[in-house]
Amino acid sequence: MGARPSLRVLHGGVVNPAPLHPDDRALFQLMHMLAFAAAAHFNLPLREFEPKRRPSPGGAYGLCNLTSGTVSILFRCKHSAREGGAWFRSPSTKREVVETVAHELAHFRDAGHGVEHKAFTTEIRAWLEAASLYAPSK
Ligand SMILES: [Zn+2]
Repeated sequence: MGARPSLRVLHGGVVNPAPLHPDDRALFQLMHMLAFAAAAHFNLPLREFEPKRRPSPGGAYGLCNLTSGTVSILFRCKHSAREGGAWFRSPSTKREVVETVAHELAHFRDAGHGVEHKAFTTEIRAWLEAASLYAPSK
């Protein structure tokens, strides 16, 4: 299954876990499973699914690295180190996360934000919502 926060080997061999608030672990695991299931269904080259590395307020909700096949999703904002580095009290909603995952996965077919990207995002989101009905609810 591999449904846990991914690790990435950085330059120098340092292993750095992606940041994830402990309370967001269940949603992360669910979305990890669904993102790979959707990628298989739509034949998209997803290779890694991770929490966003810099979950700063006001930044992007997600990123899609077309070169590495990595999708990074914001599960919860975190204050900058200068501001104390604390997690926000509230996480992103499941609806927001599903929308962001669909948006980022759609970039594998259309890198821009045109009509095709929008239509494919809608298609993936509908698939994710249907698939999540059958996913374990824990
Ligand atoms: Zn985008």
